[in-house]
Amino acid sequence: MDYWHKKWRCPFFVWDDREHVACEGKCRISFPDDASAKEFMEEFCASEHGWEKCAIARNKLRFYERKDKEETANVKEKAVWISARGK
Ligand code: SF4
Repeated sequence: MDYWHKKWRCPFFVWDDREHVACEGKCRISFPDDASAKEFMEEFCASEHGWEKCAIARNKLRFYERKDKEETANVKEKAVWISARGK
């Protein structure tokens, strides 16, 4: 669904309708009216760099950074384990 037909810049954008925007992870923001929705979407979701200032987007970026670090640590741990088995 794409009510506003904007060029969505936020990588976490999922869908919009007249008074809502939904983001990855079942997050949904409700706005009191069209003007509020339009203002927010233009400042954040559909802004080339504005989306990086959105608290929800920043939280999701930190989540993925944390997951990447955990995955890297697990891969290193597995490599050490495999290496130790080979000795
Ligand atoms: S900018 Fe924020 S509110 Fe908009 S889609 Fe991204 S995470 Fe959701």
